[in-house]
Amino acid sequence: LDQDAPLEALMQAGASHLWLHASPIQTLVTQADRRILVEGRGCRVTDAQGHTYLDALSGQWLVNVGHGRAEIAEAMARQAKALAYGNASRAATLPAIQLAAVLAHLTPGDLSTVFFSSGGSEAVESALKIARQYHALRGEPERYKVIARRGSYHGATYGAMSASGSRSGVDSYFGPLLSGTLSVSAPYCYRCDYRKTYPECDVYCVDAIEDLLRYESPNTVAAVIAEPVSAACGIVVPPAEYLPRLREICDRHGVLLILDEVITGFGRTGKMFASEHWDVVPDIMTLAKGLSSGYAPIAATVCRQPIADIFGGANGKAIGHLLTFGGQPVACAAALANLDILQRENLVRNAEQQGAYLLSRLHDLASRHPSVGDVRGLGLLCALELVTDRRTQQPFPVDGPEIHYLLEKLAELGVLTRAEGNLYLAPPLCIERHEIDELTGIVDTALSHFE
Ligand code: PLP
Repeated sequence: LDQDAPLEALMQAGASHLWLHASPIQTLVTQADRRILVEGRGCRVTDAQGHTYLDALSGQWLVNVGHGRAEIAEAMARQAKALAYGNASRAATLPAIQLAAVLAHLTPGDLSTVFFSSGGSEAVESALKIARQYHALRGEPERYKVIARRGSYHGATYGAMSASGSRSGVDSYFGPLLSGTLSVSAPYCYRCDYRKTYPECDVYCVDAIEDLLRYESPNTVAAVIAEPVSAACGIVVPPAEYLPRLREICDRHGVLLILDEVITGFGRTGKMFASEHWDVVPDIMTLAKGLSSGYAPIAATVCRQPIADIFGGANGKAIGHLLTFGGQPVACAAALANLDILQRENLVRNAEQQGAYLLSRLHDLASRHPSVGDVRGLGLLCALELVTDRRTQQPFPVDGPEIHYLLEKLAELGVLTRAEGNLYLAPPLCIERHEIDELTGIVDTALSHFE
């Protein structure tokens, strides 16, 4: 089978042998919204039938610099020819050292030491193990619990899955999960679990984390993990006070703050890292996706100096964690070339400007479409929350026929994205204003079905 094989044969072979993630087997032929993609340029991708679409989800929230960047491919080829692999625990390579130095420079505050892995789940898994080992080495091995926010997503591996705040469907198949993983409500003002309203609430949801810490006894808690802007919760942008206060709470109780910037990192929200919107420096930052814009599987767990001090120096202790592909040099070369484009083309600034424009267009849509209950976003990370009734805020069924219709209609009109209760819009950071007009025009047309 090659790219010129008849489409039918490709679909059949894919359906028989390729298991798409988070999908039943054979979805390539049984579900209309699955397709074979063959090419990408800028904000657009083309499928095997020759249809071209605006990629409104940047693949899976990650193609920040856009598709088809030849210079990233060339950088990878140069490195693969020079040296395709070193040794994750015994030998450094030039691109791994260079990339670690670049990340230490780009990340805020004294985040300075970089542990590489292959994807976001591994970055989170590494962060959780670093947090626990850090406390153990400091003489507090009883600090093992991790607090996450409900509805959040931190990955698919056991630790990351256990520290994610979504239990439905997880416990029934995969439980029992890692013990000591606790959850609190997210700062999801549109559907506040506490039935409170901002600002009168005085951001009670963050104080609730301190209540939980006290209840659990703070000296049993290793870390709080949070996405600065939670994509999984439905692009939940926290109130201004939330993250600074969370930082203070963690400091007060000796608990590490892990900020998961797997989606929000590398310009997605209009700053290099979303935590910079609130001037908060985490103890550990997890990065993946936009680190290479998807050109290679690579992720990073970046730690502050006090953590590096515990594992480092003359009497440094080895981290009990080894991943064969950590710092793989071809992936590091891809990330370096990707970050070069991101900075040279000012794509973070573009995300800020085009993101503000996208959000204004989405507010305009919301004023005309009763099926839009709420609009949320920061930079080029936006969502429309869909409701069947604005007054009752009755949500659209997550996997219901309306959502399927919407996605199919959008694809027919030339837009690929994802929708559950929310319609997500997170295009590549190189998007231009006329493409946002095209994108929101298509969303406008697709939503008119629900009037
Ligand atoms: N953390 C966050 C915030 C994510 O959104 C994701 C994936 O979407 C992950 C971690 C897991 O990343 P990966 O799928 O690369 O393992």
